Amino acid sequence: MQIRCDTHAHTVASTHAYSTVHDYWAMAKQRDLQLFAITDHAPTMPDGPHYWHFGNMKVLPRVHDNIAMLRGIEANILPDYSGVDIPERLSPFLDIAIASFHEPVFDPKGKNEHTRSAIAAFKAGTVQIFGHPGNPNYPLHEEEVIRAAKDNNVAIEINNSSFTHSRVGSEPNCIRLLELIDKHDWKVVFASDAHSAFHLGTFEKCVEKALEVGFPEERILSVAPQRLLNFLAEHGKNVASELEPWLKTLEP
Ligand SMILES: [Zn+2]
Ligand SMILES: [Zn+2]
Repeated sequence: MQIRCDTHAHTVASTHAYSTVHDYWAMAKQRDLQLFAITDHAPTMPDGPHYWHFGNMKVLPRVHDNIAMLRGIEANILPDYSGVDIPERLSPFLDIAIASFHEPVFDPKGKNEHTRSAIAAFKAGTVQIFGHPGNPNYPLHEEEVIRAAKDNNVAIEINNSSFTHSRVGSEPNCIRLLELIDKHDWKVVFASDAHSAFHLGTFEKCVEKALEVGFPEERILSVAPQRLLNFLAEHGKNVASELEPWLKTLEP
């Protein structure tokens, strides 16, 4: 199973990350990726950049060295059931948006509150991916969340770093989520959540667990750029048509 897109990476704009877009492009080439997204923390996080960071990503090339880069954000699920911290005016500048629970923004509560908050984030209509859902600090009514994600066309992220060095205790949750997502006929992305270029395109644990549970490749949106971009087009993201000429240059 080869995954050619990485939908989650942090640059130096989030101050606990250590690489630039240049570093990521160089590593993407080495690792044979065709597309990656930079998704720095929305400003409610203590280390997030100012909103200008997101509005100005238009100065970056869409494609460099035949590798495409999506302009993304990792937004915060808010504790007051109001969705995520993406102001409406920012959405047109974003190709891809992840909604995640983060402890500095959302003090963990209970299963009901987490579930309701996640669903409010999906319903807000500004995010396409639910980030690192296996975090044991945020237990969920998993099937309810998967159904709501499907109803709102939000893909669920299986985050490689949740198996390796972040959010200890995620693994059994991520494995169960894979099984439930398959049962509910829904979709995932595999993502590195790289905080330095050394981790870009690392999906080994995601792939290993998917193979273990027999998770079908058809449900993995990040397998190839065409599939991921078709999904973003369903969310009205122009990047899909902007990258169409480039897509035609890729070998099938
Ligand atoms: Zn996160
Ligand atoms: Zn992240």
